[in-house]
Amino acid sequence: MGLLQRFARPEYRTGRDAEPSLDEQPLREEPRDARQAGSAAPPAGGTDQGGGSVTEFQGFEQEARTEAAPARDVESETPAEGTGGTTPAAAGFPAQPRSQQAPGSGPAAPSAPPRPAQAEVIAFANQKGGVAKTTTTLNLAVAFAEAGNRVLAVDMDPQGNLTMSQGIDPDSVDKSMYDVLVHDVSLREVIRKREIDVACASIDLAGAEIAMSTKIGRERQLEKALRPVLEDYDFVCIDTPPSLGLLTINALTAADKVIVPVQCEYLSMRGLIQLQNTLSMIREELNPDVEIEGILPTLVDSRTVHAKEAIEILEENFGDRVFATRIRKTIRFAEAPVKGTSVLKYDPDGVAAESYRELAKEVLGNGRR
Ligand code: ADP
Ligand code: MG
Repeated sequence: MGLLQRFARPEYRTGRDAEPSLDEQPLREEPRDARQAGSAAPPAGGTDQGGGSVTEFQGFEQEARTEAAPARDVESETPAEGTGGTTPAAAGFPAQPRSQQAPGSGPAAPSAPPRPAQAEVIAFANQKGGVAKTTTTLNLAVAFAEAGNRVLAVDMDPQGNLTMSQGIDPDSVDKSMYDVLVHDVSLREVIRKREIDVACASIDLAGAEIAMSTKIGRERQLEKALRPVLEDYDFVCIDTPPSLGLLTINALTAADKVIVPVQCEYLSMRGLIQLQNTLSMIREELNPDVEIEGILPTLVDSRTVHAKEAIEILEENFGDRVFATRIRKTIRFAEAPVKGTSVLKYDPDGVAAESYRELAKEVLGNGRR
């Protein structure tokens, strides 16, 4: 009951850049093994966006939205094939720190390892907007697919940016994640095939939190919806909205791992600690095995001292949890979604594409496959 009460608090709301204020919190992350889910303090209320955080870099507030993304003809709208009905595995995480694992090498495999029975589910979360959650969800998903994996990307943000960035007009979708979460429509009915499979969002998803609020098991709606399709994919990548509301809680409850993109020019340690606290509550009440897979420095301008300092602060506080891959700032990331494609397709040989391939190697080398 504790969690329900906590989630009923006003800070669990949908809203751009919502970031609750923070009570005095320790800055260092608990060591992986010493984690005690039960000790998490519930987040305090408030709506400011990082004021008073340990270190914050301001000065980048561009948000080239992708409203202009053209709707493509819907040629292959067939729902994904496959049977389903299995329970998602509670995937464990490698105990060794990231630095002991060679990116891309993976566990020694004398012969081709058998495919895991079901997808690994990765949520991309940070309650701050504009930190490259959607960009990372899409481009890492496409990089996984390039490496031969079957990938589903799930758009859990009412803004529908992931949907748009694959050239799908959210206004044109008949059924969307709203219907999946609220009316128990099959996930297959909202999947469209593009570079990767996309479970589409539309603006009505904004009403899903209220519509779900009276449902029993409202935090598990996405987990339940994913179950029948897990056998069809190797990875499910979930994009989340910029809040810690019920949509994000659904994503974290369904996830095996969480990747946290962090914008290095506006680094809010407070926001990260807040996210950790929410994850602790999720572990305690809903999904004991969910772990932060890594923190990804994004929008890095390597020429600035700010970016260097921001990464240093991240590494001081989160150590090996910070990915070795850095995503540099380049205009390609703003251009690609307007064409309805990933950067890997838009500029296959560019540094932007390469950086997400590097990240894919790092994640694949760190995982169970
Ligand atoms: P979020 O989903 O966290 O709100 P987005 O992925 O939508 O963030 O990214 C915010 C904006 O920044 C978008 O306009 C996107 O195109 C742009 N962007 C993302 N990553 C980069 C990058 N590495 N370099 C330059 N622009 C980027
Ligand atoms: Mg987004």
